[in-house]
Amino acid sequence: MRVIAWLVVLLGATFAAAPFAQANQADPPWGWSESQVREIVNRVRAGRDLNPPSWPGGARVAVLLSFDVDNETLWLRNGDTSVSGLSQGEYGSRVALGRILRLLDRHRIPASFFGPAVSFSIAPGMIEAIQASGRHEIGIHGWIHERNAELERADEARLLRMAIDRMTELTGKAPVGYRAPSWNFSENTLELLLEMGFLYDSSLMADDRPYELLASGSPTGLVELPVDWILDDAPLMNPLGDRYSNPRDVLQVYRDEFDVAYREGTMFLLTMHPHLIGHRSRIVVLEALIEHIRARKEVWFGTHEAAVRWVKQQAGMN
Ligand SMILES: [Zn+2]
Repeated sequence: MRVIAWLVVLLGATFAAAPFAQANQADPPWGWSESQVREIVNRVRAGRDLNPPSWPGGARVAVLLSFDVDNETLWLRNGDTSVSGLSQGEYGSRVALGRILRLLDRHRIPASFFGPAVSFSIAPGMIEAIQASGRHEIGIHGWIHERNAELERADEARLLRMAIDRMTELTGKAPVGYRAPSWNFSENTLELLLEMGFLYDSSLMADDRPYELLASGSPTGLVELPVDWILDDAPLMNPLGDRYSNPRDVLQVYRDEFDVAYREGTMFLLTMHPHLIGHRSRIVVLEALIEHIRARKEVWFGTHEAAVRWVKQQAGMN
């Protein structure tokens, strides 16, 4: 099914790409010309590697912890208003976020929090809690966790603008970072991020290291902090998911990812969700991971924003 869905996405993308694709709308992918394939893959592609020679303080590896504060929006975005599902999301604001923040405070480390504007609007105490230490960043994660690739450009732009305005109002600061809901990045998303003046994106997966995004082959100046499903708690820690894994086994995956990042001198970026990682049997795993990382020297913990400002400065991008 996934392959079919992906082909539908690719075909849809081709249909939308004027002008040559219009003449080939009915072509199956095996009938595409090489120039068509190149045009498709080059729309948004990884440009130059921006991994710095060293991270702040001379560190050899950057550790960027991020929390996507989705809570109830994971159900709402599907039109699912089931009381049970919504209560599972509500755990994120009611219990899990506080537990995560206390853990970060104990270790005095910063993190980046991305959340749909609706999520923060229905539980406004979360903003104050995140801002209390002065260490954390809050970024954009859509309006209601909408799926960008299913939206018309005008709707995606309207929801993004609404999210920016609401989050600026709630946090008192214009956000600079974007993470697409479910990392669902439409053909228009890059252009919209540039139009709306974002500093960076953190939704794509072409590298372990920060890189510059290209739009149809041209450098955009927008920095990508790449993510990956391996480095995400959602597929492995959802108790109703078909890939559910023992949290202690997931810890081993995270440790191995960090250890190789350390050896290679790059970046370790982890995406988590309060309503998943914030449960008791998982928060101990996150703490064990932090302790494993902190046992190494030359490690820098930073927000995504601080990391991007550093790599831009090191690369002479201004
Ligand atoms: Zn999300």
